[in-house]
Amino acid sequence: MDDETRERIALFRDELQLCGVGSGERVVVLTEGEQLRDYADSFLCAARELGADVEDLNLRSDGAMSAEERIAQLGVSALTGDDAAMATLKDADLVIDLMLLLFSKEQVEIQKAGARMLLAVEPYEILKRLFPTRELRGRVERAERRLAAASELRFTNAAGTDVRYRVEGQPILTEYGFTDTPGRWDHWPGGFLATLARDGEVSGRVVMAEGDILLPQMQTLRGEIAFEIEAGRVQSIAGGDDAAALRRFIASYDDARAYAVSHIGWGMNERAEWSVDLPGIGMDSRAYYGNVLFSLGPDIEFGGSNDTPCHLDLPMRDCTLTLDDELIVEHGEVVVPELRAPGR
Ligand code: FE
Repeated sequence: MDDETRERIALFRDELQLCGVGSGERVVVLTEGEQLRDYADSFLCAARELGADVEDLNLRSDGAMSAEERIAQLGVSALTGDDAAMATLKDADLVIDLMLLLFSKEQVEIQKAGARMLLAVEPYEILKRLFPTRELRGRVERAERRLAAASELRFTNAAGTDVRYRVEGQPILTEYGFTDTPGRWDHWPGGFLATLARDGEVSGRVVMAEGDILLPQMQTLRGEIAFEIEAGRVQSIAGGDDAAALRRFIASYDDARAYAVSHIGWGMNERAEWSVDLPGIGMDSRAYYGNVLFSLGPDIEFGGSNDTPCHLDLPMRDCTLTLDDELIVEHGEVVVPELRAPGR
């Protein structure tokens, strides 16, 4: 075993410990084809070292995709219709998802059976740099309690954004990078939270500014893109070349549900970088401290029925976000003392 492998196993063991893995726990590591085989082997080894019962569930596939490809085609996978594999996954205490089941019906079903799930598909350097902490979890959960108590989320920016989401009683997704709670999903790395407006109850204008980020494109905007939103749907997308390219991207799915406004929240990971020049699927900009993460497309992770494969995450900098008129993020800085990162 080389040093790199030994280091990776040690890091994965630390992660599994945060996830509460110990003796007698059933850990299933899910992969497709040859994708991330090195991660699978290291997770299996780390889980065994912790005394868990481990299972290597590898789906054969002709069409195994990298995480970068998969993130643009979420929803349907090699697991769809595989009853034997589904039974194994639903029987697990913890599923390590190395094939990216995000926004799939299968993921929802596995969680409902009580298995907790951890997605880990980012390059090793990113997993290591953004390794989660209990301190981050505490902040994300305090933010969750504030969001759960709010009726309205509003955010603005200098470019002209002013949009309101009715969020009362809506489900909240937290991502802090590990999970020790039955039925709960998380993604390593993380550090943000999100909710969804009540059906049709988001209206206003979102203007992304130069330097804001388009995901899954992994692209930084050169000019503004303005979205007019009425009753939970994008009515128009205006701007220069970036807006035209985005209109074409969405139109290429030929799916009216792609224009639905999806989740909304803010980033809390002070170690995340504002960059599209990193490998992987862009978790840095999603979790970036003080961002607002605006999103279009599917909502089935929140219990909704929109499973359009067109999923856009649109992290924005320098925004001001309020919950029922209480300032939470002001010009890209978290201002609530109990939500601020140490030293910020
Ligand atoms: Fe999203």
